[in-house]
Amino acid sequence: MLRTLESHAEFITRHIGPTADEQARMLATVGADSLDALIDQVVPPGIRERAPLALPGPRSEVDVLAELAEIGGRNTVLRSFIGQGYYGTHTPPVILRNILENPAWYTAYTPYQPEISQGRLEALLNFQTMVTDLTALDIANASLLDEGTAAAEAMTLARRGAKSRSNVFFVSKFCHPQTIEVVRTRAEGLDIELVIGDEAEGVPECYGALLQYPQSLGRVVDYRALTATLHERGAVVACATDLLALTVLSAPGQWGADIAIGSTQRFGVPFGFGGPHAAFMACRDAFKRNMPGRLVGVSKDALGNSAMRLALQTREQHIRREKATSNICTAQVLLAVMAGMYAVWHGPDGLKRIAERTHRLARVLRDGLAAIGVSVAHGEFFDTLLVESGTATDAIHTAAEAAGYNLRRVSNTQLAVSFDETAGRDDIVALVTAFAGAVGKPVPTLDIDAMDAAAAGGVPDALRREGPILTHPVFSSIHSETDMLRYLRRLADKDLALDRTMIPLGSCTMKLNATTEMIPITWPSFAAIHPFAPAVQTAGYRTLIGKLSVALCEITGYDAVSLQPNSGAQGEYAGLLAIRAYHRANGQGQRDICLIPSSAHGTNPASAQLVGMQVVVTACDAQGNVDVEDLRAKIAQVGDRLAALMITYPSTHGVFEDAVAEICGMVHDAGGQVYMDGANLNALVGIARPGKFGSDVSHLNLHKTFCIPHGGGGPGVGPVAVRSHLAAYLPGVVDNQGRLSEDQPVGPVSAAPFGSAGILPISYTYVAMMGAEGLRRATEVAILNANYIAKRLAPYYPVLYTGRNDRVAHECILDIRPIKETSGIGGEDVAKRLMDYGFHAPTMSFPVAGTLMVEPTESESLDELDRFIDAMIAIREEIAQVERGERDREDNVLKNAPHTAAMLLAADWQHDYPREQAAYPLASLRQNKYWPPVARVDNAYGDRNLICSCPPLESYVEV
Ligand SMILES: *Cc1c(COP(=O)(O)O)cnc(C)c1O
Repeated sequence: MLRTLESHAEFITRHIGPTADEQARMLATVGADSLDALIDQVVPPGIRERAPLALPGPRSEVDVLAELAEIGGRNTVLRSFIGQGYYGTHTPPVILRNILENPAWYTAYTPYQPEISQGRLEALLNFQTMVTDLTALDIANASLLDEGTAAAEAMTLARRGAKSRSNVFFVSKFCHPQTIEVVRTRAEGLDIELVIGDEAEGVPECYGALLQYPQSLGRVVDYRALTATLHERGAVVACATDLLALTVLSAPGQWGADIAIGSTQRFGVPFGFGGPHAAFMACRDAFKRNMPGRLVGVSKDALGNSAMRLALQTREQHIRREKATSNICTAQVLLAVMAGMYAVWHGPDGLKRIAERTHRLARVLRDGLAAIGVSVAHGEFFDTLLVESGTATDAIHTAAEAAGYNLRRVSNTQLAVSFDETAGRDDIVALVTAFAGAVGKPVPTLDIDAMDAAAAGGVPDALRREGPILTHPVFSSIHSETDMLRYLRRLADKDLALDRTMIPLGSCTMKLNATTEMIPITWPSFAAIHPFAPAVQTAGYRTLIGKLSVALCEITGYDAVSLQPNSGAQGEYAGLLAIRAYHRANGQGQRDICLIPSSAHGTNPASAQLVGMQVVVTACDAQGNVDVEDLRAKIAQVGDRLAALMITYPSTHGVFEDAVAEICGMVHDAGGQVYMDGANLNALVGIARPGKFGSDVSHLNLHKTFCIPHGGGGPGVGPVAVRSHLAAYLPGVVDNQGRLSEDQPVGPVSAAPFGSAGILPISYTYVAMMGAEGLRRATEVAILNANYIAKRLAPYYPVLYTGRNDRVAHECILDIRPIKETSGIGGEDVAKRLMDYGFHAPTMSFPVAGTLMVEPTESESLDELDRFIDAMIAIREEIAQVERGERDREDNVLKNAPHTAAMLLAADWQHDYPREQAAYPLASLRQNKYWPPVARVDNAYGDRNLICSCPPLESYVEV
């Protein structure tokens, strides 16, 4: 094993930006003798842990990849024809390499800053256009977390839009079982009465209904009459559906549904043992202002040109907070981009061809089975056959598995087979052979072509889709791979991601997403596993999940963890469900109030709302800390209704509060539980453990602290970690049939048993390569980098809050408000001007309006930090010129930022500052310049004139 003698800690120095030398210089600048001394000054001694974490490693990249290959090898890759919401698909290689494996796409941040995000916004607009077109509804969002949670969101959207005052939501028993379980979990928190039944036997009085089309077991039912009846009763009709089927089936919007939801997984996104995949939601125009999740819309920029941005983006968590109707923050952007591009790549004809072929395979298998006396339960289907397997059921499963196929276990007498674009004639032969053997019939000779020509039925004539699909030119413009390659490149070039610049976003931890960490996720041994494959085939995943869970418990000091939540906000939701269930189990069901400091992230109150807790906001003091006296008063006031306190630590104000242990004690003494939002764990790993200093439950963001790339706004994984007394109340895990067993007190929060398991290799690889030593060092350098920026910028921009010894934690808030007083220049102007300097803006106006929050992370080198600091100092001087009256207060480089090439090349230059200052304020920019493709985007215009699909071609001509 010579390999392991190579520098095993080399990865640590690759992950951490500043070299030891640079760290020493930075320490001198901040005035600390050593890293250790700095951490002593920053972290309250009462919570500081000295002992190293009990983790193996650090290990080399080569070693860890070898281990993952071995773990992956314990998974068995069969052809999975299980269906149930997850289907085989071919990721077009041009999309695999140029999106999924391309850091220009996967390291981008959520497109809050539209001027540097036009590429991914266009890709998401394609996605929305694809969904609205295929569902035939008016508007679609750019993505939800999975089909199950999308169904739960449909249930609440329907409640807001229904005329009926009923409290009942009807769910067809023919929906995917895992969808029903997720909806059940959500309904309970919101006191919605769920009725699950067979719609053919009558639907009770209800405010809304969820149907599935085609049904989970494949049947295609005409829902027109039922929909009309439900509408007459004032109920909203939501429908879970499948976009591939809709290329040949009459669309929900055509037969009257108000809301359609589903997964876009089979548009080029691998199984990944259940995720990540992008779910969609489309609805009628009347519902659009209540739509959850992110909505991309078209607006105008300062020059009047068309430009995209997130529509209505500030409303949900940031404005409505405890009145928010959904807690969706991180969604599934990268996967939505892939699915939208799959439609661009195949075009309407290609998609139809895939759908027709899939359908024809199902018909041919039906006839092949008939030849051996095996019948199917219904004759109307798209891709899924429900087979009457009778007493041969077990034998068929065994024979199919031996032949390399997983089929869906429905009951002791029925099973289902779902086809997809990866299936072909060989599969028909193999399956008929397996069935024949199991039922004791000779294998018939199959002339597949003749059978195909003779096959009839399947899609009912009354439900055949009429008219063209995907009519927007974007879906017919790409024919060659050269064109596709250049289209993807052109879009990526419009955007700033981590492959070009630091993204100094407070609270979002945009650190290195190392290539080695990304490699295993596309290996078939991880990518090609169906979430409901038999357990014996998923031993590798179970090993990985086990090892990562142990490491996360060690890192956080908690006793148990669930990796099921698909985002941080879903982790919050799961954690609060656990708290609620715990109180109920202790006869304390009246505990329904959640205290949340005013500085909290908007998802906190939104999640509390979703579990039916009432939010009471507590104050922060002048230093940005939780106001302990106000907290004490609120605790006394709410009495035995106190369920939980939700705090973020270190705080969203970027400081380690000394009082944290005392605060936890106060809550416990009053019978409450402490929920610690773990989004800031990058300041704690290796130096303090929330599970040991007073908290009961936290979520972590693997897409922040543990290196899963942000993907332009998802995917994410938001594990929820708890102390032992809450372990029984972690999210329930459904079985291979998608059902929850009776003894699980809390339901699932995601459709797949282990959520977005497909990206867990990223975080595992990171932890393994860093080891205890590397993880601690990363935290220390993250804190050093933040203090270095704070120290160097303090003479130019006041740092709003500092903690012990005047230090900040891993991020700092720059106060722009005093500057605004004297110059009229605000945080937004500084943020937009940074784009002219080639930087992504910091977090704007969170947690304090009029400020910028900067989190450099450990991955940024001293050079990059200095480049950022130089830009900020140069911007301060530009502001000073306005303050001194040397530049106009309205017409200046800051108010007009960002500057596009077109602005600067205009024949008549009207501004009183030179073009060179606008474009090249620092000499280094002449060598390396990013050109924003649009000028400042007008958000309000787009919200007043909401357009959320690709504009028709004429509108481009106009511009
Ligand atoms: C990012 C973040 C969240 C939400 O996480 P998502 O994955 O986006 O849902 C919650 N709290 C804080 C403090 C965060 O920074």
